Amino acid sequence: MATVNAIAAPSAIEPLVRTTIERRAVGPRDVLIEIRYAGICHSDIHTVRGEWGRVPYPLTVGHEIVGQVTEVGAEVTRHSVGDRVGVGCMVNSCRVCDNCKAGQEQYCLNGNVGTYGGSDRDGTITQGGYSTHIVVDEDFVLRVPEAIPYETAAPLLCAGITTYSPLAHWKAGPGRNVAVVGMGGLGHMAVKIAAAMGAEVTVLSQTLSKKDDGLAFGAKHYYATSDPATFKTLSNSFDLIINTVSAPIDMASYLRLLRLDGTLVAVGAPPEPLPVQVFALFGARRSFAGSSIGGIAETQEMLDFCAEHGISAQVEVINAADVNEAYDRVLKSDVRYRFVIDINTLH
Ligand SMILES: [Zn+2]
Ligand SMILES: [Zn+2]
Repeated sequence: MATVNAIAAPSAIEPLVRTTIERRAVGPRDVLIEIRYAGICHSDIHTVRGEWGRVPYPLTVGHEIVGQVTEVGAEVTRHSVGDRVGVGCMVNSCRVCDNCKAGQEQYCLNGNVGTYGGSDRDGTITQGGYSTHIVVDEDFVLRVPEAIPYETAAPLLCAGITTYSPLAHWKAGPGRNVAVVGMGGLGHMAVKIAAAMGAEVTVLSQTLSKKDDGLAFGAKHYYATSDPATFKTLSNSFDLIINTVSAPIDMASYLRLLRLDGTLVAVGAPPEPLPVQVFALFGARRSFAGSSIGGIAETQEMLDFCAEHGISAQVEVINAADVNEAYDRVLKSDVRYRFVIDINTLH
C-alpha cells in the first residue's frame, strides 16, 4: 500500500479538499502510473454531488487520466516503465461474460468496475484520477501515442471515446450527414472526430457564440437551436445525430431532423425520462439509441485515430487548488472545452 496526495469530496455539499488516499500494492498484473493530468468530466460533478445515486464519501473522482508508468508487476507484458499511458472510465470487468468476450467491457453483464466509486477486486472502493498515482490492471491501461500532448490527451479517455464509439458504430464517414447537439466537452470532440472520419458535420448549439470554434474544429454548418427556423430548415437532413446535452430536449423536434433510417444517439443523460413521440420515429423509420463510452480495444483505436489525424481536446489547464472554481465554471458552461488538472501542482 502507498499513501498518495489527492483531491477528494468529503460530502455532497462541501467543496473538494486536498487530502491523501491509499493505493494498493502493485500486484503481478498491475501497473503503477504517476499521473500527469486529469480531466474534469461533468460526470465527476454529478457524482460528487450525489446526483447519480449513493456515493461512498470521501471520494476522489477523475476518469480522464494520463501519465507515465513508473512500476510494473512481474507478469505485466503490455506496458513498460516509462510508457505514456492513460486510464478512462473503468479499471476492470468480469472478462468472462458475452459482452466482455466481445471486447465490449463497458457493457459487462456483471458490471464493469468504475475508475472511482466502484468496488475493486480487493473489496476497496476505487478512487479516481485527481491524485498523484494510481494502480491499475494492465488490461485496462491504454497507450497514449507520442503525437498527442499529455494535457490534451486526458479528455480523450472519456469525452473522446464516448463520442468516437457511436460515430464509428453508426458509420460516420464520407457521404454521411452528422449533427452534433451541444458544443461542450463531449460535443467539441464529436465535431473533431466526425470531421476526421470524413462526415459532413453540423453543430446544433443553443446560440451561435461558439460558431467560429465549431467551424475551426471541422464543422461545415452551425445552427442555433434557440431559432425555431433551424428545425424547419434542417428537417429530414441527418443520417446520425449525436446528442451530448444532458438537459431534456424536445425529442420530436430533433427526431424529425433525421432522414430515412437515421439514428439519434444519446450520450448525455438527463436525470428524468425523455418522452418520445413514436410518430416521429414512424415518419422515416428512425431510431433512438444510447451509447456508453467504448471497450478497451476501441479506446486504443480511438487514441491511435486521434494521433493519426492530429486531433485532441481543446483544454484549459488548471492548478489543483482551482478545482472547485472550475466545477462552478463547468456548471455555467464557461469552459473551452475541457478543464484539465495539472497534477504536478498536487505533489
Ligand atoms: Zn466522463
Ligand atoms: Zn463481463
